[in-house]
Amino acid sequence: MNKELIATNLRNHHLKVTPQRLKIVESLNTFGHLNIDMLYQEVKEAYPNVSLATVYKNIAIMTENGLLEEVKVPESKSVFEIRKEPHLHLHCSECGKIEDFSFDTEQIRAHAEAVSGYSIQSSDIVLRGICPACQKKR
Ligand SMILES: [Zn+2]
Ligand SMILES: [Zn+2]
Repeated sequence: MNKELIATNLRNHHLKVTPQRLKIVESLNTFGHLNIDMLYQEVKEAYPNVSLATVYKNIAIMTENGLLEEVKVPESKSVFEIRKEPHLHLHCSECGKIEDFSFDTEQIRAHAEAVSGYSIQSSDIVLRGICPACQKKR
């Protein structure tokens, strides 16, 4: 994703284009999933005077406006990603890596509603295990 595309993406989500926001989206585009501290480090590298509070505020508004999504990871810090079609996450309990896993979450939602009677509004499904690379190291 080049800068122009990222800028368009920001504008499409009613967000002002700032160098910091460009950097946040760029980092997430490169690394997939990053927590607040990691995003802060990325932005700081390019803009050393930036404060954690500012990065935090930027991430919050970008999430509110639907450009980013927060993934709540049990027993670990939330990570952020660029919003895309619904999917599950895999979390390696050894190296801490978080990966996307394509799955039709609509199926789970429909089944849960039918069985439980709940009207499901959201879900954070994280499958935890040991990734292939870490299995090889054992
Ligand atoms: Zn691993
Ligand atoms: Zn994801």
